[in-house]
Amino acid sequence: MSTISVTLPDGSGKELDSGSSALALAESIGPRLVKAATSARVNGRLVDLTTPLRDGDQVEILTFDSEEGQDVFRHSASHLMASAVLRLHPDAKLAIGPAIEDGFYYDIDVAPPLTEDDLPAIEAEMAKIVKEDLPFVRREVSKDEALAHFRERDDQYKVELIEELDDGVITYYEHGEFTDLCRGPHLPSTGRIKAFKLLSLAGAYWRGDEHRPMLQRIYGTAFPSRKLLDEHLALRAEAEKRDHRKLGKQLDLFSFHSVGPGFPFFHPKGMVVLNALMDYWREEHRKRGYHEVRTPILLDRVLWEQSGHWDHYKENMYFTQIDERDFAVKPMNCPGGMLVYKTRLHSYRDFPLRMAEVGTVHRHEKSGVLHGLSRVRMFTQDDAHIFMTPDQIQDEVIGIIEFVDAVYATFGLDYDIELSTRPEKSIGTDEMWETATSALSSALEAKGVDYKLNEGDGAFYGPKIDFHVRDCLKRSWQCATIQLDFAMPDKFDLEYTGADGERHRPAVIHRVIYGAIERFLGILIEHFAGAFPPWLAPVQAVVIPVAASFNDYAESVQRRLFDAGFRVEADTSAESMKYKIRAAQTQQVPYMLVVGERECESGAVAVRHRRHGDLGALELDVFIDKLRAQVEARALDE
Ligand SMILES: [Zn+2]
Ligand SMILES: [Zn+2]
Repeated sequence: MSTISVTLPDGSGKELDSGSSALALAESIGPRLVKAATSARVNGRLVDLTTPLRDGDQVEILTFDSEEGQDVFRHSASHLMASAVLRLHPDAKLAIGPAIEDGFYYDIDVAPPLTEDDLPAIEAEMAKIVKEDLPFVRREVSKDEALAHFRERDDQYKVELIEELDDGVITYYEHGEFTDLCRGPHLPSTGRIKAFKLLSLAGAYWRGDEHRPMLQRIYGTAFPSRKLLDEHLALRAEAEKRDHRKLGKQLDLFSFHSVGPGFPFFHPKGMVVLNALMDYWREEHRKRGYHEVRTPILLDRVLWEQSGHWDHYKENMYFTQIDERDFAVKPMNCPGGMLVYKTRLHSYRDFPLRMAEVGTVHRHEKSGVLHGLSRVRMFTQDDAHIFMTPDQIQDEVIGIIEFVDAVYATFGLDYDIELSTRPEKSIGTDEMWETATSALSSALEAKGVDYKLNEGDGAFYGPKIDFHVRDCLKRSWQCATIQLDFAMPDKFDLEYTGADGERHRPAVIHRVIYGAIERFLGILIEHFAGAFPPWLAPVQAVVIPVAASFNDYAESVQRRLFDAGFRVEADTSAESMKYKIRAAQTQQVPYMLVVGERECESGAVAVRHRRHGDLGALELDVFIDKLRAQVEARALDE
């Protein structure tokens, strides 16, 4: 019998009988890999495990641990779900069923429409098909054959998709009696889908076009084990509980209105948090030698042409006219910052020049992607532009890395760092890129921090470092960024006088730390589940009298705390004490100060913490000192 030789990702070779599949390769490596494998990458192409290998192939076995392997698993689960729907609703028409982050969906057209109550029956049918362990079989058909099949099924969606394909071979995937038009790949069989859950139903227009039929989208998720599924569902439930849109309403922080889609309205309590964030920000920037500027929101088209936004960013911008001149609402603060720089001559002695701007920008986002504070059309960047000589870049970047680290530590946020280098399409000389990229990487190395290298993922105008914050549910959010820019200094003809007395171009860094402040607030709401540490809490303490006869004392305690600079309420309503404690607890107020006879006589308060419960009685002055120390240290409330 003849053999073939294939190469594994680590460079090692493997001899196999000719005609062997990727699955046979997995078998030759070990039984655990056979169980975990979902698909294979052969010479860079994703394929089914059953695909026969050829001599000289480069083969990588993919498992659920890789994103692509996971997608194959989830996408196969979408076929499984579609086949279950067809068994129960034979006239249903199928549109598309991709894998998505954390799961999959399938868009279907079924009459009468499904309700959430139909999902358990579909799950039960799916479980049967898993038990039947039907192999996913790939079949090649001609375009005519495919059209005939789906016309007979009267499935106009698949027919439309096939009509758009080039002539030639089209692939089907079948399991049992079910046939779907699909490029693949899929798992070897339905029996691999050990754990799944259908999560929700939503409406979705065919091809996202509001003039076309509204379909039903069934969302689900699938995992190779019950344990992984349960963990995922628990995190999902916790994320739903912490959803900042829900908590924002419950805690009266902000709202959205139909007259301003994507434009948040901040309520008094939301402003308290935002202002506390900005006070902290200003304090830290002052310490680090930043100067704050503010530039206008509306500026003439001429400026946006000069900056390049007019040519490259127009579809995300808003426009208006003033005195018959075209104006644009700023989507970024940079051009304004450059104009401020140019108002006077600069010398190398001024450098590094750190100019910060808390600037509100507007960017058009499609209405479908708007999401609470995470995706908005108006937001405020905690921006800064730093002008320096090229040999100052590294120290400056080290300073910013330390700055970001200090700020995120204050909130107890972990983060990952990514360094993105020169993309294929870019401006600037090789030398500029080399200097800048090595300044960024040596800054990271000097700090001894781990980072991921994203080769070719930088902006066209320069390399960058991104910080991805990880919240307590292990979700990742891109927040801080440090970007070097070779384009802006040229476009705005920026100069400085060097030590040699000649004129030079400064290096420019754009950086944010919170990113968008509104979005950062959304992250904090979810990270703290609404229970802000005392320095950020909209109300830091509520005084609760045990009976109406102690209302006067409660109000005097409130006054004392208020005069000491705290945000404090006294609940002298007619409700019971229990009710008042519950209300304060729901509002996530850090401290409840219960007062009755004993406290009134001794000038004390009985302190109750929202999470730790009863902390015992304290003299009011002692409590004030404790709270002040906590707030001034911006301590986490642990
Ligand atoms: Zn498929
Ligand atoms: Zn900028």
